[in-house]
Amino acid sequence: MVEKGETLTEGNELLDAYQALAQPRKVVYEQVNAAGIGCRSEVVLESLIAQLRAAIVGGIGSKGAAGDGKARLPFDAGALAIYDEIEDTSVAWLLEVDRRPPYESPEANLAAWYLAYSRMPNPAGVDPAGEAREREWVRRLRGWATRVQAMFDPPTRREVTESWREPIVDAFGVQRTKRKRVLEVVDGVPTARYVQEPQFRVTTRPARCPHCGERWAFNRDTGDRISALVMEFRLADEHDAEAGVVATFRSIEAACRFCTRRWEGRDGVRAMESAIDEHRAAEENEQTRGQA
Ligand SMILES: [Zn+2]
Repeated sequence: MVEKGETLTEGNELLDAYQALAQPRKVVYEQVNAAGIGCRSEVVLESLIAQLRAAIVGGIGSKGAAGDGKARLPFDAGALAIYDEIEDTSVAWLLEVDRRPPYESPEANLAAWYLAYSRMPNPAGVDPAGEAREREWVRRLRGWATRVQAMFDPPTRREVTESWREPIVDAFGVQRTKRKRVLEVVDGVPTARYVQEPQFRVTTRPARCPHCGERWAFNRDTGDRISALVMEFRLADEHDAEAGVVATFRSIEAACRFCTRRWEGRDGVRAMESAIDEHRAAEENEQTRGQA
């Protein structure tokens, strides 16, 4: 016999997913001053849905009302689309478990929906589709939370480049050389002689994708040539009394904009970087052999 109010997902993932999206959160900030003394302060953050709504409203009216000191997203059609999707879905879910008319906000709808659902005799007890339905809810709620969080915390994007020794050539395409003084010890006597040394300039260029071999891709909207490989990361600052601030990654991934291959996490990105290094070393060997 399934008890009233029981939910199927382990550790009540449904409640966690609902709260993460629709309820205010209490966050503890830990700050360390120059003397190394830590101080904890609690801050209540609005729910992700409320933050999203504020960002949309602020974005629309922010042109004239800028300067209130609050961080505002630029008006973003994606933000509005997510908000509409959450709002419509919250009404549909509420009507699925309760006949009462929907409330004013998606948070209120979701609160009423969760309360009504948690008071129902577990639908999965009589309905084999109940568990699948609950998992689908968890998946949707988590998906929205991830998308909203990503909007407020955009990753830093950086092109993946490599340093490259480019031969300096003259107007005829011949590599320039430079006279260089070399000291040698001949029969115990230091002797100077001169050699002509090829000249290089060290530049950076887009790294070659280890998967498809391309250095460049094209921006679909503008047609501009862009580097193929990009890396996206979010930094987490860690305070260290001795070394100052040590930056670590909260998330990191890389992708090729030509072949869409992705490398996820630190291990993935490290594997990509060592593959790039191997290719570059092979290419430099090829270049050196070509000149010899
Ligand atoms: Zn590629």
